Amino acid sequence: MSKYWNEEIECMSREDMKKLQSERLVTQVKHVYENVPYYKKLMDEKGVTPDDINGIEDLHKLPFLTKADLREAYPYGLLAKPLSDCVRIQSTSGTTGKRVVAFYTQNDIDIWENCCARAIVAAGGTKDDVCQVCYGYGLFTGGPGLNGGSHKVGCLTLPMSSGNTERQIQFMMDLKSTILCCTPSYAAYIGESLKEMGYKPEDNKLKAGIFGAEPWTEEMRREIEKSLGIKAYDIYGLTETSGPGVSFECEEQTGMHINEDHFIAEIIDPKTGEVLPEGSKGELVFTSITKEAFPLLRYRTRDICVLTREKCSCGRTLVKMSKPMGRSDDMMIIRGVNVFPSQIETVLIEQGYSPNYLIEVDRVNNTDTLDISVEMNAEQFSDTIKDIQKKEAELVAAIKTMLGINPKVHLVSPKSIARSEGKAVRVIDKRKLH
Ligand code: ADP
Ligand code: ZN
Repeated sequence: MSKYWNEEIECMSREDMKKLQSERLVTQVKHVYENVPYYKKLMDEKGVTPDDINGIEDLHKLPFLTKADLREAYPYGLLAKPLSDCVRIQSTSGTTGKRVVAFYTQNDIDIWENCCARAIVAAGGTKDDVCQVCYGYGLFTGGPGLNGGSHKVGCLTLPMSSGNTERQIQFMMDLKSTILCCTPSYAAYIGESLKEMGYKPEDNKLKAGIFGAEPWTEEMRREIEKSLGIKAYDIYGLTETSGPGVSFECEEQTGMHINEDHFIAEIIDPKTGEVLPEGSKGELVFTSITKEAFPLLRYRTRDICVLTREKCSCGRTLVKMSKPMGRSDDMMIIRGVNVFPSQIETVLIEQGYSPNYLIEVDRVNNTDTLDISVEMNAEQFSDTIKDIQKKEAELVAAIKTMLGINPKVHLVSPKSIARSEGKAVRVIDKRKLH
């Protein structure tokens, strides 16, 4: 069995890929211009017509689309196919505001599932695997996407959905699951629960995990790999571009290959909209060149990352994106300093804490406050109060070194911070509530 799902595409020469992307882009722009009045208006306002787009070198001429556009055009305003050709909707998790809906033709679903199949095969999946999918099913894209990909590969698929961790573990053990698909925070929770139930990492048959839908650090990856005894692969996507499988990690684990035959990626300066050269950090923008029902052009994801075309040892030539370490709107400005939750997570795990924490930001007497509650494990919890205070001071110092501002750190008892079965909520910014 090949180590690729679609070798021809995944290992295509740069030149051939550019040609394929150009052809598809030209067709797609026409399709959108003729069928989506909302986007036609944006193009008209910018003075661009489909005749101006002859290949990917012209991509920068097209207007951007933002989440605000999706909300304004909700629900049918960006639909490019008659409803009678659509077979499914999915919806965002609504992490950052009002949900948006996306539409799929049967062909869109097939393409999406094939993208997920590429991710499963890159993680070592074959038809002999037992693939336990505990992303949420329903409107959320995680469950349906990986479920479809797993079917395509021919794995025995366990459509568990999220939650009911004891039952997850029972099925995992009884049916000898070999691949686990869920959010990284839920994977960490399953690892923790297995340990509590007296299992050792080698007691399960898992070999790989495909974890995504939320930011997670390299430190968290190592924790999960250790607790489950697996290799953990990242997967990325968003509802607006179909769902998970826009990009996926290979065995090198140094970023995610973007399925460039379906999505053209650009990195822009989030402030000016200017396209940045390869290797620059900025906002990721996607143009879907094969989607029929909901084909977003130059969609601003608000995810911040870096693209690289360095040769990958896996043989794939698809461009790689770094882990998005948070969205531009996840970034908090605390006392004038830019803070991403992932920076705090890195420090906590480096210092030997579990990834169970809660960040609370507020404003008291016109000054921003940063309070971080961090869970101790049973062993840390058995320390004397004096020792715990010392540990809190050490954490404060380490976080100050990372961020340049002084937080308050509260070490709290084991299991006192709510676990997540889907996307974890790690930040409460009370300033937004005032
Ligand atoms: P919502 O925007 O409401 O959360 P989605 O469920 O469509 O809706 O989530 C897509 C977003 O999830 C992405 O834009 C990105 O911010 C985040 N995301 C998805 N996969 C990953 C990943 N592997 N690493 C980091 N963030 C991710
Ligand atoms: Zn690779």
